[in-house]
Amino acid sequence: MLRRAGQSLCHFLLEKNSGAGRSWCSREAKMSRPVQARRLEGIDKNIWVEFVKLAATYSKVNLGQGFPDFPAPEFLTEAFSRALGGGNHMLHQYTRAFGHPPLVKVLAQFFEKLLGRDLDPMTNVMVTVGAYQALFCCFQALVDEGDEVIIIEPFFDCYEPMVKMAGGTPVFVPLRPNPPKDGKLMSSADWQLDPAELASKFSERTKAIVLNSPNNPLGKVFSREELGLIAGLCVKHDVLCISDEVYEWLVYDGKQHIRIASLQGMWERTVIIGSAGKTFSATGWKVGWVVGPDRLLKHLRTVHQNSVYHCATIAQEAVAQGFQRELMLYGKPESYFVQLPKELQQKRDWLVRSLDGVGMKPIIPEGTYFLVADISQFKSDVPDVPNSDEPYDHRFAKWMVKNKGLAAIPLSAFYSEAHKNSYTNFIRFCFAKEEATLKAANDILQKWKQEKTSS
Ligand code: PMP
Repeated sequence: MLRRAGQSLCHFLLEKNSGAGRSWCSREAKMSRPVQARRLEGIDKNIWVEFVKLAATYSKVNLGQGFPDFPAPEFLTEAFSRALGGGNHMLHQYTRAFGHPPLVKVLAQFFEKLLGRDLDPMTNVMVTVGAYQALFCCFQALVDEGDEVIIIEPFFDCYEPMVKMAGGTPVFVPLRPNPPKDGKLMSSADWQLDPAELASKFSERTKAIVLNSPNNPLGKVFSREELGLIAGLCVKHDVLCISDEVYEWLVYDGKQHIRIASLQGMWERTVIIGSAGKTFSATGWKVGWVVGPDRLLKHLRTVHQNSVYHCATIAQEAVAQGFQRELMLYGKPESYFVQLPKELQQKRDWLVRSLDGVGMKPIIPEGTYFLVADISQFKSDVPDVPNSDEPYDHRFAKWMVKNKGLAAIPLSAFYSEAHKNSYTNFIRFCFAKEEATLKAANDILQKWKQEKTSS
């Protein structure tokens, strides 16, 4: 009460332009103690802030950030409208804190099918504000001061700061490219872990490994052998697996997404993370989930109940209806989970052709929204900046958006500080876009090629 009165008095005095009021307020505003919590030290920079702004200012075609510019499926948006305007006014109120009952129930049914095990919707599933909050809950709930967490590079960039905020130490291990000898285009499958190098990262300090398959940014879908290698090390060293599977349905060329939790000894130590944003092309809805054993999820619930507590009820209701539809159509041609990857594969192939045509060597992704391309042949296009230690891929991406109007993200942004300088010849494009957007990107690339050949 007193504080309120103080604030409004200050406001009043400022409005009156009173000198006395100003000095009183500015004395209040001055603080000499550090305001930033120590856990934020060194994690304040974020690549997206800079590149999203550049894309908004200069791009004609934005293939940078990972979201579709095509509509979410009608069955989903209709479910949302029904939930919003239908007769059940209780959908405008809080729902169950750990997940709206219809959503956790259908997710449990779905994952029972996928994992071949019985699941309790109330203890083996939790709904979060997108996969982002699911990740945050995992690190806060499972990682202690001094714990090491293995992260496979390149990685979705928030893993590193989230591990640090929990007091943990990230330990990085890169996927190493092995270009095919026959001159063919590289595939994301050609980026592999070195088994000895991976094994050397595990120790008694290792608490968890983060696995992201299908992987953002490369589009790599880890094979059964690769997952077996990781699972074997997790079991041997009693390590947890935080398995980010947000692109689980976006797998191409008949490849299969294998869930590491289904491998021997892994269910008890794995948290599976998913996202309705990627699953139903509705990234703005921010509905995510975790699936896993109660012995892990109960700690995630503690973080959730002491931070976010509830997720938007109507969005959860609509996603539940989306899953109910998909459960009925499971494996059938009408299923969205069958149709969406087919459409995205075609879009991937268009972009592969466009990029290959101008000499930006694409690495063909086996899954996800993303495609990484080799830009090493474009060094002469981009002016050198004297005395700058900015990596080439950052300079290239900035130059490209400013001069060609095409936005993409530098790959080194997905590496740790220690390794980023070894991966500066690549940029990441998002192909989850309308045909017209990809055509406009192709036009830019074709024009660029003509300019290059005529100069
Ligand atoms: N994990 C990965 C690998 C992602 O690419 C993303 C989104 N780009 C997320 C998690 C976050 O997903 P959401 O939008 O559901 O929070």
